[in-house]
Amino acid sequence: MPYTIKAACPCRKCKANAGGKCEANAKSLDEVESIFGFRIMGDGGKEPQAYCRKCRGLRCSPNDEECQN
Ligand SMILES: [Zn+2]
Ligand SMILES: [Zn+2]
Repeated sequence: MPYTIKAACPCRKCKANAGGKCEANAKSLDEVESIFGFRIMGDGGKEPQAYCRKCRGLRCSPNDEECQN
């Protein structure tokens, strides 16, 4: 059975978007692949990265001042 995979970047305020909310949002496997990328889990499965590629490039994290809510 097909399953839908989605991801939305948790950044609310981001250097990547001139101080605005990161709008990275993926609604399909292809979009997740191109916008977020995957990380490989210990059991060989993969799950979408929490942050979009752009934010990861900027090292966004919940502890980053630029990316707090
Ligand atoms: Zn982002
Ligand atoms: Zn960000």
